[in-house]
Amino acid sequence: MAEDCIFCQIVDGEIPARVVYEDADVLAFLDANPLAPGHTLVIPKEHHETLGDVPPESGEMMFAALHYLTPIVEDVVGADGSNVAFNNGEAAGQEVPHVHGHIIPRFDDDGGRP
Ligand code: 5GP
Ligand code: ZN
Repeated sequence: MAEDCIFCQIVDGEIPARVVYEDADVLAFLDANPLAPGHTLVIPKEHHETLGDVPPESGEMMFAALHYLTPIVEDVVGADGSNVAFNNGEAAGQEVPHVHGHIIPRFDDDGGRP
């Protein structure tokens, strides 16, 4: 756990979040400032800053959770598809330095890219 990391604090229950999935290695919760209904973040419970820092096993767990959750999130909000993405590093727009995948539901009539 990194003391000043908000996502580590969510893992520890110190900051509340709307958790949609949890297992021993991975947590998924709704984004506090969603780009679309159902916008979900998937994180490894262990603190790693970027994808390159994540050990392969944790990367596999994270991908398995994204794979499992994406169609469920889409079904729950009635989406037609989704953007599944990582902002990897500050230069790429990563604001929270604890690696996270975004599931951003998309709708046929939503008129553009997130
Ligand atoms: P990034 O730009 O780092 O890829 O995305 C960070 C995401 O985390 C943003 O979409 C932002 O809305 C979300 N976020 C930041 N702080 C919190 C928080 O305390 N709780 C939740 N649920 N989401 C957060
Ligand atoms: Zn962290």
